[in-house]
Amino acid sequence: ILETRALNKWFGGLHVTGGVDFALEPGEIHCLIGPNGAGKSTFFRLVLGEHLPTSGQILYKGEDITKRKPFERIRRGISVKFQVPGIFKALSVRQNLEIALQHHLAKADLNAEIDRLLTFLNLTDAATQLAGNLSHGQKQWLEIGMAISLKPELLLLDEPTAGMTPDETHATGEMVQALNAGGVTVLAVEHDMAFVRQIARKVTVLHFGKIFAQGTIDEIVADDRVAAIYLGQSDAH
Ligand code: ATP
Ligand code: MG
Repeated sequence: ILETRALNKWFGGLHVTGGVDFALEPGEIHCLIGPNGAGKSTFFRLVLGEHLPTSGQILYKGEDITKRKPFERIRRGISVKFQVPGIFKALSVRQNLEIALQHHLAKADLNAEIDRLLTFLNLTDAATQLAGNLSHGQKQWLEIGMAISLKPELLLLDEPTAGMTPDETHATGEMVQALNAGGVTVLAVEHDMAFVRQIARKVTVLHFGKIFAQGTIDEIVADDRVAAIYLGQSDAH
């Protein structure tokens, strides 16, 4: 469903994406891991079109979208939950979802769809709370809700479980699996290996902007070369 060919991104003299050839099959749940600064978030911004690559191509369902604007990519079915919070803190949970959905649904269908999302996100009881007052985990669920509101076919999640308790992390894994069962292809950046094990069949390791290793979670955790790139990193989340 997604393919990048020799994708390169330079920020000034910094080579952040180093010729990435990556392919995501339809229906996959795939995790992208790698040390801090490896270029994971930058890769997501390239896929959504928030950054244009210095060179290389991005294909979505076989179509070259390299030069497409973000909204054109969103319209084609790509959605990203970024690492940086994108919710309106001074508005309630329900109002946040209303903003995400209001231009896409008739008024009659809006409330029913918001209720459905709230149930799916475990946020029914928090619907009237201000988003800024939610727990870390609830904020992440609302972010996921915003990202799935337009029913994407390809969902990119950048650190969806950051700040979550183990129970919340597990519940998030079940959400991802339910979305996937409904036909959504998922690529998630994740540091929590228990979560990776719960959801992912395939894992890609990014290191200094390049694909360093690829395999099943068992292959990746057994790979001493992969363990070595994390050594000496104090902030492994
Ligand atoms: P983390 O695990 O900490 O989230 P990451 O793998 O997501 O890391 P990126 O955020 O993609 O890493 O950053 C990769 C490198 O690119 C870092 O050295 C970062 O400082 C640099 N970088 C990212 N965005 C920009 C930008 N807009 N301008 C200049 N440098 C950038
Ligand atoms: Mg990042």
